[in-house]
Amino acid sequence: MRVLMVASECYPLVKTGGLADVVGALPAALAADGCASRVMLPAYPSVLARLADARPVMREDDVFGGPGTLLSARGEGGLDVLALDAPHLFARDGNPYLGPDGRDWPDNHRRYAALCAMAARYADAPPDGWAPDIVHCHDWQAGLVPVYRMRATRRPPVVFTIHNIGFPGLFPAAAVAELGLPPERFAPDGFEYYGHLSFLKAGLVFSDRLTTVSPTYARELLTPRFGMGFEGVLAARAADLTGILNGIDDATWNPAADAHLAAPYDAARLDGKAADRAALQAETGLDPDPAALLACVVSRLTDQKGLDLLAEALPVLLDGGGQLALLGSGVAEMEDAFHALAAAHPGRVSVRIGYDEALSHRLVAGADAIVVPSRFEPCGLTQLIGLRYGTIPIVARTGGLADSVIDANVAALQAGVATGFVFEPVDAEGMRHALRRALAAFADRTAWRGMIQAAMRQPVGWTRSAAQYRALYNDLAPNAKDSGP
Ligand code: ADP
Repeated sequence: MRVLMVASECYPLVKTGGLADVVGALPAALAADGCASRVMLPAYPSVLARLADARPVMREDDVFGGPGTLLSARGEGGLDVLALDAPHLFARDGNPYLGPDGRDWPDNHRRYAALCAMAARYADAPPDGWAPDIVHCHDWQAGLVPVYRMRATRRPPVVFTIHNIGFPGLFPAAAVAELGLPPERFAPDGFEYYGHLSFLKAGLVFSDRLTTVSPTYARELLTPRFGMGFEGVLAARAADLTGILNGIDDATWNPAADAHLAAPYDAARLDGKAADRAALQAETGLDPDPAALLACVVSRLTDQKGLDLLAEALPVLLDGGGQLALLGSGVAEMEDAFHALAAAHPGRVSVRIGYDEALSHRLVAGADAIVVPSRFEPCGLTQLIGLRYGTIPIVARTGGLADSVIDANVAALQAGVATGFVFEPVDAEGMRHALRRALAAFADRTAWRGMIQAAMRQPVGWTRSAAQYRALYNDLAPNAKDSGP
């Protein structure tokens, strides 16, 4: 079985969020199951710099204003990559989607249409003979693949995964002609979204199967509150939509062998975690207080992530003797608000604005709890990382957060299976209540230790989810042969 993944990000080549983690980790998990994957993505400078053995496999003279070459190459960890080298579209440093002014690049429609057109062309007639049995598209940037597939002769089934419906890939109607899309499909039952072209909707309407990244989010997407205008389209396709919970790469995220930590640890030897906690307090300027509940956040700072609720509820944590260490970046007002909180509570609140992979490891290892108060969360990865590191998640009851954290209710505590605190309604009062519960549990060291053990026992790797993707692929391409491990 051969699967061509099409995405705009792939860890560790380029990453702005969880999408990259998934696309980077799923191929290795599938390989163990007899399924070979190639990841096709744009050759941004950061990608080109990290590829080995690159050789051209396909070339087009004009992909929306310049030449495009598909490079076959190896990424770290043996990842099989097809990188679309089109300098007029992708030779730009920094965030893949945003220019130096912080706004979307004005030609994003051409950039990602080029990726989709090239993917459809390659899947139709791969010059190197690697004919995929399935094309697996991720998020709006890959949404036009099934549209460009319409003009192909070889048409492998397309699976489309929704990582976040909040990014619809909207462009003015004029883009339909510019991108060579069939004008008759610019209609409510096609890729039109209220007078705009939506790449996401193209993926939702024209792909053979749809998945999203947790069972709860799959249900939520059918409601107006979470569907963001796509609930009708999704309701029409409900029979083709499944939720498969993401995993995390348990080699990258392994407290027993994490090079970023002061001291490694596992469930049987938690003294390393205490050392990491002390090191984190020293590094972030927090008081060296062993009795404080140290909560952390690693997140984009946007409305989705609900961190304004944490800011509002923070007095509960601080009055209970707790501390907060936050790493994130995003909306300027939210960055400013957290800076102000850090200034008002030196030694109790530490805020680092920016993106820092190494610090994110030390934060999750050193903290006692990780807070994820998202208003919606398709899957969420940081709570899974928290579980793996015995760092108790305090999460909103939504999407993948609800599917991965077992609330510390009386029954779950009694059964020894509670792994965190799950709250609703998702508002400041809900957040306060969850913090009070966490503080009370933390005061009972035996109970807290039991939760750490349960959290660290919970499987959060890819094995189960990869098997579910594999079953879906088998269903769509029953005659594909195993590729061997
Ligand atoms: P989303 O994709 O919506 O941003 P996820 O929880 O699915 O949220 O994935 C976020 C990923 O990005 C996680 O791997 C998390 O550790 C990482 N991350 C988010 N913000 C930062 C940051 N400021 N520094 C380092 N890593 C971050």
